Amino acid sequence: MIEVSVIIPVYNEEQGLQALFDRLYPALDKLGRAYEIIFVNDGSRDRSAMLLKNQFEARRDVTRVILLKGNFGQHMAIMAGFEQVRGKYIVTLDADLQNPPEEIGKLLGRMDEGYDYVGSIRKNRQDDLWRSVASRMMNRLRERITRIKMTDQGCMLRAYSRSIIDAINSAREINTFIPALAYTFASNPTEIEVEHEERTAGESKYSLYSLIRLNFDLMTGFSVVPLQVFSLFGIVVSCLSTLFVVYLAVRRLIVGPEAEGVFTLFGIVFFFIGIILFGIGILGEYVGRIYQEVRHRPRYLIEAILEGKE
Ligand code: UDP
Ligand code: MG
Repeated sequence: MIEVSVIIPVYNEEQGLQALFDRLYPALDKLGRAYEIIFVNDGSRDRSAMLLKNQFEARRDVTRVILLKGNFGQHMAIMAGFEQVRGKYIVTLDADLQNPPEEIGKLLGRMDEGYDYVGSIRKNRQDDLWRSVASRMMNRLRERITRIKMTDQGCMLRAYSRSIIDAINSAREINTFIPALAYTFASNPTEIEVEHEERTAGESKYSLYSLIRLNFDLMTGFSVVPLQVFSLFGIVVSCLSTLFVVYLAVRRLIVGPEAEGVFTLFGIVFFFIGIILFGIGILGEYVGRIYQEVRHRPRYLIEAILEGKE
């Protein structure tokens, strides 16, 4: 019986993989729990897939490798791993050693106490200043507009019970944010503090653009508040503009026609156009999501799975 499944998404991590193997396996061996490690190669264009194959040969007993056919993104890669897990507890970990694998034991200890979701908070976060600040702001915004309560949404070193993973597998979402999705299925969640280190090798796989996309997935995927705020805003604005039109009409009667106000009017019109565009953008965000869901596309394509006998 496998007790722990560790899932690690890998995208162009050739420089750091060996260091990961050197720390991860001893850390897990020390725990004295039956475990498996599932590496999901997310369409790396470097030698990562080859390194994973070699590692599979070296530790066939506990290693499984899923090779995806393209780059489907970190969260989809983890989903591909979720569908293959055999363990009772499932742990997700990044390949870049920013979250030390030695902390896995702590998470499992909390799972033993009966929690079904153990989140984590990065102690002494080692990221660029702007990323830390932006991430703190997004955390606060999420706290406000969703029912998801976590201190540090960005930290991927987390443990989940098998029942949460089964629920995630039955949800067919495409753009999602795993820690948040799992949280919505958890009945007894908790959090602990974990160490955080600088990336040992390679560089962050997230550009500013993909970070923004990811946060949109988080906000629109778990909340309709952006949409509701906009409709409220629309109501307030249309009330105000009605008052304004009445005021202009009265002025026209009392003062007579005025041409000097044209530019003020332009300013006001542009202001409204801005709001309208913003609203259309938010609508588009939801329509886009619906479009993606109704297509029922496969979420990812597997090229091969390397694994020993069960
Ligand atoms: N990753 C992935 N597919 C992607 C981007 C990232 O599988 O398209 C993996 C990456 O290899 C790493 C984890 O997701 O194991 C987190 O990526 P990264 O460390 O670059 O993110 P950051 O720590 O900068 O948020
Ligand atoms: Mg990282």
